[in-house]
Amino acid sequence: MSGVRVEETGIPGLLLVHLPVHEDARGWFKENWQREKMVAAGLPDFRPVQNNVSFNREAGTTRGIHAEPWDKYVGVIGGSVFGAWVDLRAGTGFGKSFSTVLGPGQAVFVPRGVGNGFQTLEPDTGYSYLVTEHWSERARAGYTFLNLSDPTAGIRWPIPLERAILSDADKAHPQLAAVSPVGPRKILVLGASGQLGRALAAAAPADGSFEFLAREQLDLTDAAQLDALNFSGYRAVINAAAYTRVDEAETPAGRREAWATNVAALGELAAACTAHDTTLVHISSDYVFDGTQQSYTEQDGFCPLGVYGQTKAAGDMLVAGVPKHYVVRTSWVVGDGKNFVSTMAQLARTGVDPGVVNDQFGRLSFATDLAAGILHLLEVGAPHGTYNLTNGGEPASWARIAAEVFRLLGHDPGRITETNTAAYLAGRTGVAPRPSHSILDLAKIRAAGFEPPEQFEALTAYLSARSPAS
Ligand code: NDP
Repeated sequence: MSGVRVEETGIPGLLLVHLPVHEDARGWFKENWQREKMVAAGLPDFRPVQNNVSFNREAGTTRGIHAEPWDKYVGVIGGSVFGAWVDLRAGTGFGKSFSTVLGPGQAVFVPRGVGNGFQTLEPDTGYSYLVTEHWSERARAGYTFLNLSDPTAGIRWPIPLERAILSDADKAHPQLAAVSPVGPRKILVLGASGQLGRALAAAAPADGSFEFLAREQLDLTDAAQLDALNFSGYRAVINAAAYTRVDEAETPAGRREAWATNVAALGELAAACTAHDTTLVHISSDYVFDGTQQSYTEQDGFCPLGVYGQTKAAGDMLVAGVPKHYVVRTSWVVGDGKNFVSTMAQLARTGVDPGVVNDQFGRLSFATDLAAGILHLLEVGAPHGTYNLTNGGEPASWARIAAEVFRLLGHDPGRITETNTAAYLAGRTGVAPRPSHSILDLAKIRAAGFEPPEQFEALTAYLSARSPAS
């Protein structure tokens, strides 16, 4: 038993923490913030980066009410205060208040968007704030203030405000009716014009809770552009951007670009997400494996065959170091863009009879289903970590899938000539090695509550949703 006890307050996410205080003849000692015990007791996994302390000489010193764009953990380090908090977040709770007395044995976790204020009850009171973002001029623009005297919040300050000690700035803050509610942190999607990026745009609610940036708006490899992003405004970043040209990655220029995008730039993104307590969702690939196993779970070790797979594996390791991360490992993505299914459909329609390999096995991943699975993980707050995510059903070879595309489009599947990888590669150069088995075990994503649609049903829906000419 740690002795730490966490109490709800009626304002969602605002938590009152009771701390053991050890007293002796010298004074007292407490573990003011102890992440392991406090997370176990029910606090969010709060990772402060800055500790501020205010010293208040007189009883009746009153500060607030301030909602900064970050989470806070507040308490006294001597003396006592009457603390008051007002929910300034958009929603039905806007304007709701909570107050209590804080002595050394209490602390309060204040989520972003909840205004914080206090009045000292004793002289020489120290008040501590642990916060999750470094203070900056840019952060100041994200502050929201409420006047201490606001009648709607109805805070009963023990010492009437007329007799209290207030700063001029605090006296000038607006009443609730004039306060713009603090909006929720958004989800940012990078690589918005790729197959997955477009599917995410189609799946995301159109309520302003998502922001999409294509390469033209944000090139991941441009450190200055990444640096200019205000990460404190994002609760999650979904990185759908990647260097995906598997064969070109084997060339000297491609190798350099693949490493720059899929590893070096991703490392910068991962560091920024760590620094801002932002969840990073990153997409991994079956190409991190060599295909010698019948199927792969999330625990299997990396063994990539080619440069692209090597960069994806290195990227996965960087993302795994982000405290709040999802590595979503997928295979054979089919969306709005150039992919195997669209190529086969094109060949079927233009009268080309292709040879297709029958010794590489896997499952398709329709970008729509991939997007739905990613949004599901974020929505349910699934435990962080790696998740395989492809469509379900029996694995199939590329040749079988090609035949199904022809059949579903009303063409003769007999036009496909089955071949094997060795024969296909004979006489060709510049083709990256590919795993023969790309089957990703789906037990973990199912346990997280997401059932991937069967791949051939999804293929049927995908083809029927497209016009014959597309
Ligand atoms: P796409 O190639 O369709 O999309 C990738 C997007 O990333 C493109 O819009 C691309 O822009 C953009 N991009 C590339 N470099 C940068 C950069 N430096 N800064 C910003 N954006 C950049 O890929 P998918 O949507 O199919 O893939 C999504 C994810 O899934 C990737 O992580 C990929 O590795 C992974 N994956 C894909 C598989 C597949 O079969 N496609 C299989 C397994 C995993 P531009 O077009 O201008 O280069």
